[in-house]
Amino acid sequence: MQEGVNSHLDTIEADVVIVGGGPAGCTCALYASRAELKTVILDKNPDVGALAITHQIANYPGVSTEMSGEQLLKLMRDQAVQYGTDYRRAQVFGVDISGESKIVYTPEGTFKAKAIVLASGAMGRPASFKGEANFLGRGVSYCATCDAAFYKDREVAVVGVNKEAVEEAQVLTKFASTVHWITSNDPKEDDLHAQSLLKEPNVRHWSKTRLMEIKGNEGGVTGIDVKTRSEESQTSLDLEGVFVYMTGSKPITDFLGDQVAFKEDGGVVVDDFMATNVEGVWAIGDIRNTPFKQAVVAASDGCIAAMAIDRYLNSRKMIRVDWVHS
Ligand SMILES: Cc1cc2nc3c(=O)[nH]c(=O)nc-3n(C[C@H](O)[C@H](O)[C@H](O)COP(=O)(O)OP(=O)(O)OC[C@H]3O[C@@H](n4cnc5c(N)ncnc54)[C@H](O)[C@@H]3O)c2cc1C
Repeated sequence: MQEGVNSHLDTIEADVVIVGGGPAGCTCALYASRAELKTVILDKNPDVGALAITHQIANYPGVSTEMSGEQLLKLMRDQAVQYGTDYRRAQVFGVDISGESKIVYTPEGTFKAKAIVLASGAMGRPASFKGEANFLGRGVSYCATCDAAFYKDREVAVVGVNKEAVEEAQVLTKFASTVHWITSNDPKEDDLHAQSLLKEPNVRHWSKTRLMEIKGNEGGVTGIDVKTRSEESQTSLDLEGVFVYMTGSKPITDFLGDQVAFKEDGGVVVDDFMATNVEGVWAIGDIRNTPFKQAVVAASDGCIAAMAIDRYLNSRKMIRVDWVHS
């Protein structure tokens, strides 16, 4: 942890909290840390962002054309940490940006900052399964780390086959009585994490199976309907939680509610300095739904935001309030 970032029980204070550790977030952190700002990156998962899943990145200036996105991202992250960034794996599930101090909520603790930077990318998707939007927060979740404990000794489903689905299903195996793992394609045989998940005694894998509907009542989710490719009819499962991990290309803004202004296409509105319409809040990278989604563009956004934040925090230091007389 960076020296000077204060941990008070589970509330951590910093100058800048950055939500997302992709190229936008890491570049912003590098510049902010080098400007002596106490900087925290909160990153849900370093393996699931757009750059992390890029097989080969041949167009990032100055690095080997053989480099994978994952390798490039690690270099960026390590460089930010080297200059003092406090990088933490934590999924942000809510923020309160109405006050001067910006509050960020994660299962790992609450973070308070003078400036917050939104850099969660655009690997999200709209709720598209029947019942998904209706039961969101009432049995439908996108964060096992946040919600798994609510499902102790209950049956749940995990939908999806990507890295995030596998890791989150693994978390759920520690709590749920049965984890129904619904995948339309089988996990790869050389995916060691997926293969070890399949060996968990409380995992039931529904291979080549699609989620058809999430059902429930006023109390929340009560079950799901699934359709296995080789079967004629659908199967109904009684369960209480559904964790969905499908990837799309929509800005990830679910943790924001309607606290900042959005464009019609779902991107966060910013000015030339990457500042949103809320003072003390910046947005960078794919979360803006930029017309050209590239790592170098995201990195550039991060640089601009950090320099603007440094200027903003310095100018605030110089404001002399009326009631201070020397
Ligand atoms: C398949 C593919 C290939 C591509 N190829 C290239 C290429 O060759 N060259 C190129 O320049 N660009 C390429 N791109 C685009 C480039 O990867 C993106 O433009 C860039 O990664 C965007 O950076 P970002 O930091 O905004 O978002 P991301 O890289 O998506 O990072 C966002 C981060 O935020 C985290 N996050 C999300 N939600 C939360 C939350 N609630 N709490 C905490 N953390 C959260 C994610 O885990 C992730 O680590 C490609 C993209 C894809 C999908």
